[in-house]
Amino acid sequence: MDFPKINAERVWRRHMELARIGATAGGGVHRLALSDLDIEAHCLMNKWARARGFSVELDAIGNMFIRRPGTSSGLTSDAVPVASGSHTDTQPFGGRFDGALGVLAAFEALETFEDQGLETRRPVEIAIWNNEEGARFMPGLSGSAVYTGALSLDDMLACTDSDGVTMQSCVERLHAALPDAGKRKLGQPYAGFVEAHIEQATLLEEAGNTIGVITDIQGNRRFEVEVLGEAAHSGTTPRARRKDAFIAATNIATALRQHFEANDPDDIARFTIGIFNAYPGAKSIVPGKVEFFIDFRHPSSNTLKELGDAIDVIAKANQGTCAAIVREVSSAAPEPFADEIINKVAASAERHGYGNQRMISCAGHDARFLSRLCPSGMVFIPCKDGVSHNEKESAEPADVAAAAQVVSDVLLEMAQQQ
Ligand SMILES: [Zn+2]
Repeated sequence: MDFPKINAERVWRRHMELARIGATAGGGVHRLALSDLDIEAHCLMNKWARARGFSVELDAIGNMFIRRPGTSSGLTSDAVPVASGSHTDTQPFGGRFDGALGVLAAFEALETFEDQGLETRRPVEIAIWNNEEGARFMPGLSGSAVYTGALSLDDMLACTDSDGVTMQSCVERLHAALPDAGKRKLGQPYAGFVEAHIEQATLLEEAGNTIGVITDIQGNRRFEVEVLGEAAHSGTTPRARRKDAFIAATNIATALRQHFEANDPDDIARFTIGIFNAYPGAKSIVPGKVEFFIDFRHPSSNTLKELGDAIDVIAKANQGTCAAIVREVSSAAPEPFADEIINKVAASAERHGYGNQRMISCAGHDARFLSRLCPSGMVFIPCKDGVSHNEKESAEPADVAAAAQVVSDVLLEMAQQQ
């Protein structure tokens, strides 16, 4: 199979053009989901798509699909399409590449096929998943979650932002801004999906590699721990009579950290206590209660189960004179990607001489949900110092081009498959 070369200069130019919508003084992008600016970004993508003769569709949750048809012989024009994409919304004062890279790498692939007059057996699509960041409407990844049936459409449309604006009213505004867009049903199948993204960490940079071949998205379990003691006078209560919830909670936290470190010699597990509150929170009162939250992530379901289940046991063993109550508040299973996509990504990186390594995604992405619909995978490129969700987020033009090249290769191979 011949793999056409993408246009590196064009994909970079489109990045800089898209980054103008919501550009901040600090060099980043502020473009919250379904804001006027995000709708403007969708309109720009629509304009570029129409100029190349691609068709555009929207679905009921505000995902946008740009399609280049498959071979027009008539016999295969109804073949299930393949797709690539990501998101155009950003975090507040976010960067120019998170999300945009996946959308524009896919767009460059379609343009390359168009330039070459390439005929693909299957239609090839760009998917712009709505509200990936979850910065305006909770939860994030909601466009891909609703599309693939992991979240209810009605529940998500009823969500409101901090000003009380419903997601439904914003989705209606998006549809109104693109009156010529066709209507897409939720959950329409794909034969394969690949998403390019910046790494948002430093493994590629440290290794001097260009392409991360993503094998899995790690899973997570989140726990709330409540430690109940007894509030008491800090001046008059001797140690022997205290039920100090702070002491018990810190003993539990230390024991947990030691247990996780001892059982994770390769530093794979991510164990974080990001919230820790003592009550009633007065200078002269021995705390009667502490609440803290644990965010635990790992790529292996077995380890998620073993280490996660140990939290309750360790908390009880270290509660002392207090009482520890552990509640699991949310969880997501690890999502292994399909070997057939992983292998295509790796083969493309090799073909073009891009230094590459297999790695997991430590952050969640839309491909997590697409993976439940069709064989899916991801391509990472480095971002400077791993900085992301920040105006300083930065990627090199050559790496952006490499991402577009790999996406183009993988899309083409998937699109020609029976
Ligand atoms: Zn992203």
